[in-house]
Amino acid sequence: MNKVLGIIGGGQLGMMLTEAAKNMPLDISKVIVLDPTKNCPATKVGAEQIIADFKDESSIRELAERSDIITYEIESGNSSVLKSLESTCEISPSPETLSIIQDKFTQKKFLDDNGIPVAKFSEISTKNQLDSKINEFGLPVLLKTRRDAYDGRGNFKINSIEQISEALQIFDRKSLMVEQFVDFEMEVSVIAARNTTGEIQIFPVVENIHEDNILKMTIAPARIDKEISKKAEEIAYKTMEVLHGAGVFGIEMFVTKNNEVLINEIAPRVHNSGHHTLQSSKTSQFEQHLRAILGMQLGNTKLTYSTIMYNLLGPDNFEGEYNILKSTDLVKADNVFLKMYGKLESKPQRKLGHVNIIDKDNLGIEKLLEQVKILQNDFLIEAKKN
Ligand code: AMP
Repeated sequence: MNKVLGIIGGGQLGMMLTEAAKNMPLDISKVIVLDPTKNCPATKVGAEQIIADFKDESSIRELAERSDIITYEIESGNSSVLKSLESTCEISPSPETLSIIQDKFTQKKFLDDNGIPVAKFSEISTKNQLDSKINEFGLPVLLKTRRDAYDGRGNFKINSIEQISEALQIFDRKSLMVEQFVDFEMEVSVIAARNTTGEIQIFPVVENIHEDNILKMTIAPARIDKEISKKAEEIAYKTMEVLHGAGVFGIEMFVTKNNEVLINEIAPRVHNSGHHTLQSSKTSQFEQHLRAILGMQLGNTKLTYSTIMYNLLGPDNFEGEYNILKSTDLVKADNVFLKMYGKLESKPQRKLGHVNIIDKDNLGIEKLLEQVKILQNDFLIEAKKN
């Protein structure tokens, strides 16, 4: 085969995809990423880079000319340009699926139309519509911008009638949707894959803990009853059956207090909550994605070890070049795997790296959580001294 892989986005996900590609040299000879940040993380592990905005038409065309297959590690690519290139270059997942997912409203409608459970939702273009939907759903609700929102940016929780005007003002001129607020017991996700021949495989359900809308920690497997895991896996499987295109998808869900499972949203790409697979599973989500888009048989998704993935985020009070202070021996422990993304500058809440802690001695998740606590206190970042 020996194909050139083009990736839209060269951040940490592009970096880990590039590393997975390097382990498959007979299948992928070269990786080229399109990313606006000079020396983006993927270049640190050998990817070539086209420096341009993710949506820049001529650069996407250049990427297509130089690649055999295009994929993406972000969902904000230019789906209409990608659609026009489908006859000249393989693109996975399909630009059609990308365009459905890029718009939170069309994504929810697609899921709802296919009988997949989601919270009550509606598109909103006037204040009257919002008033009437709040009447119907009850408070609180979440007002969401339909496009280009991530890590909770673009969401406003409306708790009282008085906040309606403020919420609409903040999102002035944006296309919007409203959603019933789900009083969830837990947030979970399933990393699912379908290859170009239609084979589907899913990784076990994991538990996600967010702080300020950013993923802080993933616990694999999720601490939920078997019945609920089964429900979540069935929903993920059904979603994969109706979505077109090949690749890995991160399917985020809520488990409600009544043990219902609802999809929150789908990412048409490898996902932060799948990073544990680098150590917990025989096949990582990155290798799985490449297998899927290359039409290879999908890899084994069983968990070899229970694992906690802990995100290393830039501290709130610092921006700039940084050093890592490793004041603990924990990162040297043989069940702890540190992965930094090679980003030169820290910013508040920026994802700088992650740690996977595997339960290699079968001590249980609680023991791993104790290790996470030590990391939280001891894994610190300081300003780089010249
Ligand atoms: P989003 O960017 O829409 O995935 O939302 C980011 C976070 O906001 C999610 O991980 C949830 O914690 C929360 N969230 C989103 N939608 C809802 C909802 N309908 N009900 C409750 N929480 C939500």
